[in-house]
Amino acid sequence: MTKHVYTFGGDRNEGSAKMRNLLGGKGCNLAEMAGLQIPVPPGFTVTTEVCSLYIKAGKTLPEDVKQQALDALAWLEGNRGRKLGDLENPLLLSVRSGARVSMPGMMDTVLNLGLNDQTVEGLAKASGNARFAYDSYRRFIMMFSDVVLGVHKDLFEHEIEQLKHKTGKTLDTQITAEEWKDLTVVFKAIVQRELGKPFPQDPIEQLFGGICAVFDSWDTDRAILYRQKNRIPDDWGTAVNVQTMVFGNMGDDCGTGVAFTRDPGTGEPYFYGEYLINAQGEDVVAGVRTPQPITKFQAEGSGHTSLEEAMPEAFKELLDTCNRLEAHFTDMQDLEFTIERGKLFMLQTRIGKRTALASIRIAIDMVGEGLIDSNTALGRIDPDQLNQLLAPVFDPKEKASFKNAGKLMTKGLQAGPGAAAGLIALSAEEAEELAKTGPVVLCRTETSPEDLAGMYAARGILTARGGMTSHAAVVARGMGKPCVCGASAITIDLKARTLSVEGITLNAGTDFISIDGSTGEVFAGHLSAFPSEVNQVLVEKKLKAEDSELYQRFDKIMDWSNKVRSMKVRTNADTPHDADVARAFGAQGIGLCRTEHMFFEGERIIAFREFILAKDLDGRKEALKKLLVMQREDFEGIFTAMNGLPVTVRLLDPPLHEFVPHDEAGQAEMAEVMGVSLAEVKHRVEKLHEFNPMMGHRGCRLGITYPELIRMQMRAISEAAINVGKRGIVALPEVMVPLIGTVKELSFTKVEMLDELAAVNQEQGTDFSCPIGTMIEIPRAAITADKVAQEAEFFSFGTNDLTQMGFGYSRDDSGTFLPEYVAKKILEDDPFQSLDQEGIGELVRIACEKGRSTRPNIKLGVCGEHGGDPRSVKFFHRTGLNYVSCSPYRVPIAILAAAQAVLEEKK
Ligand code: ADP
Ligand code: MG
Ligand code: MG
Repeated sequence: MTKHVYTFGGDRNEGSAKMRNLLGGKGCNLAEMAGLQIPVPPGFTVTTEVCSLYIKAGKTLPEDVKQQALDALAWLEGNRGRKLGDLENPLLLSVRSGARVSMPGMMDTVLNLGLNDQTVEGLAKASGNARFAYDSYRRFIMMFSDVVLGVHKDLFEHEIEQLKHKTGKTLDTQITAEEWKDLTVVFKAIVQRELGKPFPQDPIEQLFGGICAVFDSWDTDRAILYRQKNRIPDDWGTAVNVQTMVFGNMGDDCGTGVAFTRDPGTGEPYFYGEYLINAQGEDVVAGVRTPQPITKFQAEGSGHTSLEEAMPEAFKELLDTCNRLEAHFTDMQDLEFTIERGKLFMLQTRIGKRTALASIRIAIDMVGEGLIDSNTALGRIDPDQLNQLLAPVFDPKEKASFKNAGKLMTKGLQAGPGAAAGLIALSAEEAEELAKTGPVVLCRTETSPEDLAGMYAARGILTARGGMTSHAAVVARGMGKPCVCGASAITIDLKARTLSVEGITLNAGTDFISIDGSTGEVFAGHLSAFPSEVNQVLVEKKLKAEDSELYQRFDKIMDWSNKVRSMKVRTNADTPHDADVARAFGAQGIGLCRTEHMFFEGERIIAFREFILAKDLDGRKEALKKLLVMQREDFEGIFTAMNGLPVTVRLLDPPLHEFVPHDEAGQAEMAEVMGVSLAEVKHRVEKLHEFNPMMGHRGCRLGITYPELIRMQMRAISEAAINVGKRGIVALPEVMVPLIGTVKELSFTKVEMLDELAAVNQEQGTDFSCPIGTMIEIPRAAITADKVAQEAEFFSFGTNDLTQMGFGYSRDDSGTFLPEYVAKKILEDDPFQSLDQEGIGELVRIACEKGRSTRPNIKLGVCGEHGGDPRSVKFFHRTGLNYVSCSPYRVPIAILAAAQAVLEEKK
């Protein structure tokens, strides 16, 4: 018989942290804590496997699961000395979801399960606290109705607001036992009205209802969206934890809160957290009341009383427990606790979500503290998060002037660092809509899981209520978005569509707002951003390395990565400036220098158009003479910037029609420059028209029809290399022929290139030479790579085109169907963002193998966008490539990913 239910705590602790897949993160860690003799209210976990069984069985619980749950319940009742549904002293339960990885807000917990019209009286008597009993009952009706029965909690909250309004009270804690009791009657009537049947009074029915609701929540739209964005497989399922209740709402010697063993925003090694006196857990997490700081240090100057002061003993025990747990799991923990009549209970521990800044700082600090080694530290940093270290901050001067002008609206909590400015959106839908045309900041009183799509669409998130651990804060940090929370001075009026603080009113949809998630500041208007410290040290050189801790940490990560990785990282750069930036970030060469960009700038486009529009070879050669001068100069600049490092230059690739003027004014200009009639220019432009230009006259096909063009380019490259060489610069060009499908295209082109090179050498009296290779971006070239390698000294995989042609999708047109493909799971990802390893990756693998079979030392690299995507980078490492090349700002990301690839391989 399969075991479906595992108990934890008490005298029967059946799980441990090793059983995460089966018990879920919450369940396995509850068992782990209990095993460490940490006070955890006992309970039992229904496994993640049951989730699939339940869904397969048409959303019903199999009988043997029910039986095992009842057996576990019997054990629990024995252990607690209380029975579910008992009229004198009832056992109450919480029902909690818990997948393998945390999915914040996937399902709201049901607390106080087991209460009904009779047991509530028993609870009142047993606790001697009727107010507590009815507060718990009204919470239970609300939560159970919302989560299990599908009666929205707003209906209930509205009644609480009405009551407060009538009685002139502002806080939940001021409401009396009698008032709560009356409210439960109103609540039950709402359920009867909405569902046409009464609120369930049978505790066992409540229990199984709760368990099923958790399994159902695995399949809601928001859970599915979250899984999609976070790459969590659908078949993992969630576990359900049924746990004895402990009460933070029994009076002023009770409370509940959340804590982090280090600051999740900055990573500073300070114990950090928030709590509420006389409250139940959801109050803190939901952001209904803004909670108080835990430590004296945190509370200083805030006017709040810390837990450290209010309940020193419980605080000390909490601090010790948290420290123990951090050392035990060797990572920063995010913990939930409740204090019942002065006694501490731990309700959850998990590895805490953190900002990129914090994640780097914590990893490095823990190496310093001897908790982990540097390789473990590297494995803990998400390469994409490095993006945030490089992300812009607001210009301090402009910020100061905004302040002077009274545009600082308020200061909230620093929930997610980074600067964001955008139009004000007041709902998730509005954010999605406005984001289509420009940056948006999603502004909400508080966010809920329904806002997820809008949060993805927004540049930044601002909330008026809620703490550092509110939904908005947790989710924003996970997404790496700037976020300011708990900006309580702000009023959002959904009817008037305004956002205001005293003296400033902004309109949604038309006015800009700027938030600084690193300081918590909120500004009216549009602030412009400023480069990050890393950027200032490395690129702008305005800041000294020793003056920036942030930079030093970044540098350490790069340093550790460089020691581990075997794959090189180059950059895609077309200008000396890009080359400089990338080199500063650690690029070891240029993997793709696109020559077409050189043709677009300023006067050059005219000369190039002359070439394209020329009547005959003589006309074209005339135009190329002018271009030669400019190209040579460009290459000199780039070779100088990359002194001593390889530079892969790609010969002209795009279809010629991209360069010619399609408007009449532009055509008239060309007619004048060239001394021909407008009609003639028009005619030539029309002749260049292609039905499918991406598969038309482009790439190496250009050089085959116009050999003089690639001759000019070869000349520009070699003369530039020779020229800078005279100044002591080591130029290492590698010339790459794009878009070949058969080796003959390459051999034909190579003859022209080598011939031109020989001419240059003869003129100059030099013996310059450079490797000539090709891009592999047409499937035919990939599967005949053994032949191609007879001519090519290196391969560079152009995975964008390879994906286009391998799938037969036009990248620029795929927006109409690819999102649906991903949503419908026909594809796991957009293959233009992350390499399709199974198919396109297989082409890469075959080409590598075949290429090496002909030329064992052939150099293999990637220059498509995938070179900066961590998962693709790891694939390229496994496939044995020598380097990846990506845009300058992704170089650090690729460096870390390349190091992780080595570490993952060792595992
Ligand atoms: P989430 O996954 O959304 O954090 P949890 O299952 O952790 O949901 O429950 C949310 C909150 O409910 C907890 O932080 C805790 O304060 C409260 N809670 C859960 N179980 C219990 C319990 N057994 N006793 C008291 N409070 C509980
Ligand atoms: Mg919850
Ligand atoms: Mg929790």
